[in-house]
This record gives sequence, structure tokens and C-alpha cells, in this order.
Amino acid sequence: MEMNIKQQHCTEKYICGSAFSCIARALKLAGKLYSNMSDETFMKAAVAKTKEGIKKGQTPFGACIVKDGKIVSCAHNTVWKDTDITAHAEINAIRQACRKLSRRIPGRGKTVNLENCVIYSTCEPCPMCFSAIHWAKIDKIIYGATILDAKKAGFSELKICNADMKEFGCSPVKILGGFMREEALELFKQWSKRKDKKVY
Ligand SMILES: [Zn+2]
Repeated sequence: MEMNIKQQHCTEKYICGSAFSCIARALKLAGKLYSNMSDETFMKAAVAKTKEGIKKGQTPFGACIVKDGKIVSCAHNTVWKDTDITAHAEINAIRQACRKLSRRIPGRGKTVNLENCVIYSTCEPCPMCFSAIHWAKIDKIIYGATILDAKKAGFSELKICNADMKEFGCSPVKILGGFMREEALELFKQWSKRKDKKVY
């Protein structure tokens, strides 16, 4: 029985039948098809930060964390700059947000709690980033391109979509996928034209 479950989970079709089905499920989980203008503004901030990273020879991923309608942190991927395989945009943004919100707590207060925050990511968070988002108690993920898009661009992604991470892990995080996906895909195109591009 255990083997059967394992085998099922290792079947690509089961984990992530298609980018479309994952996005459709993410949209269903979010409970709405379209979002408001503010979401667009914050995703644009993540896109702009990604472009900054691409110009500096980094990979095409950016993320922005928002609380009470204000940007708390915005970061691009710095895996190559930091020679740190965990320095994904979402992890960088979470670290920055926790440091920033900790400074707002009087005395020696520190927090790793990002409740009531939304993370805007140009690409669907990988399982590592999804886990960090869950640990940080972020309310909602809004992402553009999919993990499969990143895989197609050459990154060694684990093919487990956020909808499955949520379902298998029973995470309360809300997900809105495929938001401004065209803009996010454009980032991969820009990056792919660079001679200094490196995947991992
Ligand atoms: Zn990641």
C-alpha cells in the first residue's frame, strides 16, 4: 500500500498533470478568476525587481511581500551572487520581511510570523519556498509563471505544483496561479538572451 502511494506520487501525471490543470486548481482555490488592480501593482514590483536581478546576472525570479496594502519586502533571486542554492526570491523576501517587521516590535521583539501578508512571486514557488511560506504563515500566494515553465527554461525543478503541496500538506495558504503569466514568461525570454545565464 505504501509503495502504491509512493508510486502514485512519483508519477508525473499525478503530481502535475499539466500547467493548465494546476493553474485552474489554484484559481479555484483562490475562489476567484480575476484580482484587483493592487495585485497588478505588486506583481509589477516583483517583475521590476526580477529585471534588476537579470541585469546583475541573476536568474529570472522575483518576489514581493505585502502587508496592509504596503510592500514590506521585494527581492530577486541571488543564488549565484551568494553562491547559496536556497537564495530564491521568495526566501530572500521572507528573510527581509521578518527582519523589517521585527524592527517594528518595541524592545527585543522578533518575529518570523508573516500572518496577513500576501506574497507575489513571478514564478510558482518551488516546494522549498512553498514550505517556507507555510512556516511563515503567509496568507496567500499569487504567482505568474508555473514550475513547469521554469523547468522548460532549464531549471532543475521538482515537479510538484503548489496546489498539490497545499493539498498533501493540508496548508491553509490560499493560492492564485497564472496571474500576469505573460509578463512572467517574458522574464524568462529576457534572461535566456543573456550570455551570462546559468541555471542550477
Ligand atoms: Zn524556491
